[in-house]
Amino acid sequence: MPDVMVDSFGRKVTGLRIALTPRCNLRCIYCHHEGEVKPVREISLEMAASVAHAAADLGVRSLKITGGEPLLRMDLADLISQMPRNLDISLTTNGILLAEQAGSLAKAGLDRVNVSLDSLRPKIYRAITGGKAGDLERVLAGIDAASIAGLGPIKLNVVVLKENEAEIPHMIEFCRERGLILQLIELLDLQGLGLSGNIEEIERRLAARADSVRIREMHRRKKYFLDGAEVEVVRPMDNTEFCANCTRLRVTSDGKIKPCLLRSDNLIDIGTCDRGGIRELLIEANQRREPFFGKDRPKRERADAAGSAAK
Ligand code: SAM
Repeated sequence: MPDVMVDSFGRKVTGLRIALTPRCNLRCIYCHHEGEVKPVREISLEMAASVAHAAADLGVRSLKITGGEPLLRMDLADLISQMPRNLDISLTTNGILLAEQAGSLAKAGLDRVNVSLDSLRPKIYRAITGGKAGDLERVLAGIDAASIAGLGPIKLNVVVLKENEAEIPHMIEFCRERGLILQLIELLDLQGLGLSGNIEEIERRLAARADSVRIREMHRRKKYFLDGAEVEVVRPMDNTEFCANCTRLRVTSDGKIKPCLLRSDNLIDIGTCDRGGIRELLIEANQRREPFFGKDRPKRERADAAGSAAK
């Protein structure tokens, strides 16, 4: 087992999140685009695989593949098959194209999927995802196919919005029945859209009803267990504990190493580096890591930085 990188705040780097494309087949009204600023090129299969291998050599244990919408990459199964075998490989998808691809991705070596689904009501789902392409039935078929292909435990990612907060009890039920983990995500309202639901109140209710609570190492996220359902709550905003326990590096869809979702002023371009060169860049990126929500930054400055990351 290689040594794990540790940054100057004592935080280990055990996870890598690679965005494979800026393209998406949905237009979610709140999307943060993984904090990317106008990407112009799409990372190659070779570069994505080299970064993952270099990261695995530096002690990274898990890889999350994201986008844009990663299922739009025609070479996705190939790419997964070239990833290091010792990584836990998961994919975050909107699920629209999952039914067709779940089997081949599982064969290629994908371990798990997170499916983003903000409403179980067709009309609301379409409104949140920005139009006709938001076909709920296709996502549900995708979840079934992923389950059959063994891509579990499947997580259902739900960003808590005004539009869907009343649906959360129904979503808990939906996940319990299918053995899915529900992941409730606080909206990063970088554009000041005012769409956030009341995740604080939802978490209070979960805490009151839970049979037990577990705290994950990553971000010290809380997991609530209630009547056989598993609900994880992800609340990054102004959360110094979340940042203090961040274990991730990111790679943008145009091939830049990104030490923090919420910053775009400290990226490192991979350019044409080989695996040895990428290793050095990952070490440099680790040195650039610092908690976004931390005691040293005035809140005003943090808000400004987040605003520019969203543009
Ligand atoms: N297209 C894929 C999907 O829908 O999962 C992957 C990319 S998407 C940007 C990854 C995750 O980020 C999704 O679960 C999405 O809901 C979440 N997300 C996007 N914008 C967000 C925001 N402003 N605040 C919180 N989560 C957000």
